[in-house]
Amino acid sequence: MTSQRQACEIRSDCDVIVVGSGFAGIYALWQARQRGLSLRGFERASDVGGTWYWNAYPGARCDVESYNYAYFFDESIVRDWSWSDACASQEEIQRYLKFVAERCNVLEDIAFNTEVLAATHSLEDGLWSVTTSAEETVICRYLVLAIGALSEPKTPDIEGVNSFSGDVYFTSRWPKDEVVDFSGKRVGVIGTGSSGVQAIPEIAKSAAELHVFQRTANYVTPTRSGPMDPNLVAQLRKNPHAVRQAARETYGGHTPLDIGTERFLELDDAGRERALQKAWDGKYVPLAFRDAYLFEANAAISEFVRKKMLEQVEDEWTANQLVPWDHPYGGKRPCMSNAYLQTYNLPHVHLVSLSETPIEQIVAGGIKTSKDVIPLDVIVYATGFDAISGPLFAIDICGTDGKLISEAWADGPSNYLGTMVHCFPNLFLPSSAMSPSVLSNMATLAEQQIDFIFDTIDWLENNGRPLIQPSPESQERWREETLHYAKQRPGALTTKSWYSGANIPGKPRVFMVYCGGFKRYNETCYKEIAEGFPGYELLKI
Ligand code: NAP
Repeated sequence: MTSQRQACEIRSDCDVIVVGSGFAGIYALWQARQRGLSLRGFERASDVGGTWYWNAYPGARCDVESYNYAYFFDESIVRDWSWSDACASQEEIQRYLKFVAERCNVLEDIAFNTEVLAATHSLEDGLWSVTTSAEETVICRYLVLAIGALSEPKTPDIEGVNSFSGDVYFTSRWPKDEVVDFSGKRVGVIGTGSSGVQAIPEIAKSAAELHVFQRTANYVTPTRSGPMDPNLVAQLRKNPHAVRQAARETYGGHTPLDIGTERFLELDDAGRERALQKAWDGKYVPLAFRDAYLFEANAAISEFVRKKMLEQVEDEWTANQLVPWDHPYGGKRPCMSNAYLQTYNLPHVHLVSLSETPIEQIVAGGIKTSKDVIPLDVIVYATGFDAISGPLFAIDICGTDGKLISEAWADGPSNYLGTMVHCFPNLFLPSSAMSPSVLSNMATLAEQQIDFIFDTIDWLENNGRPLIQPSPESQERWREETLHYAKQRPGALTTKSWYSGANIPGKPRVFMVYCGGFKRYNETCYKEIAEGFPGYELLKI
């Protein structure tokens, strides 16, 4: 592959390039500044926010509580920002990220509307050369791709997608400059993951007819959206650094919660039912038991949620279709909504179960299933993402052996500690494969990984070592450890989910999330620094 460096007109140099301006990108730019490194930032959107910029569909909201899903590195940010809802909306989270970017003075470092197209490393000078859609090549020593795990929309794999004559929207690319009006329209929504589950009740409010095309049912439990608890806010503001530290000591990187205090194995049937009901009422059903991670406990949780879901839908056929009988709770990403299931009790909302009547093709006037053509004015694709590796493969990232990362990962992701890849020195990948990523609190993870990345860079600078990459042995060990913990997670290896690439035809089936827990992950990262990076190779130029 020829170096992108030769192909471009303008050159500039800096220590660090940060791509993306979501939670990880904003914090990375701030960290680079704090450590006296020169920097450039690139963002393909017109504003900060990352996933919270693009996914502006009606009803978009975070399932993780806002007081949890936030930065804790700066006391004044914690003190000066007030969330209006315990689970913030997309609009509020994007506004929050803009507030933080302004507070951290990083906006001026970011070139917006600029996509990074390629990055090539040369061992001759130990530099990355990064090419952008602005026909600029920027040379840097450290490259941080804070491009998110869920930022590359899945291309719909349905025949005739371009044949439809009505309006088409994607939840993952919701228009920013248009108020989408469904009034009086016949709308079809394809997909019932977290995005579909949130959008469907909102669309149903104005659509004349709504047809939901469901391929696989998902677990849906109540959301914690609602007023913020002022006592909790006061407690968090008292000592943000302690909150941050405590979250890193947990399994999922969340503020520790005082629920699920009893153990499944120590309870009789009545006790288990009582604990499950208490957790359901408190809206924390996955944490009903302290030992909820056990397969037996998970089976009880799955059965309990199915029962609760059946109770909410009036029509028996619809209820049975909406309940996930095929996988355990947590096998796929569970959804949260207080309105989704009840929406199917409205007379103008119809479920099309694709397991019974699959889509044959999209036609000009609607969607043709094996049974009939459903006439539509609008189709909303809530069909998800080419998750985790997809965003990386969208950039031509070329390593020291001349291979693209998509070639290096042809059989599935391979890295060490979820952040670095052999033959791609000084390339850092927050929220990528084989980190706690999407099974943890992404905000806590963004801070932890960016801290780790910049502590690594500090170490290199202080020890006069220009280049670092993981050894192949460490990558293999990390692959084995990731698999070891995945085997312990109910449904991880048996459910078809985007966690393992099963939503993308032809993608290798590899469980891409580290399930050993946030605490263990953080400790393993910092053990490397403390011991002088035994799991890495320190290269010379
Ligand atoms: P998703 O979970 O991957 O759901 C995509 C949906 O589209 C699935 O129901 C899938 O069916 C269906 N689908 C895909 N291709 C299809 C086809 N060709 N024909 C019919 N159906 C098709 O995507 P998402 O809902 O955008 O959510 C992705 C992730 O983003 C979530 O899991 C979550 O981590 C995050 N998210 C979080 C929130 C939140 O915090 N509330 C909100 C939105 C998203 P199958 O299941 O059969 O593949």
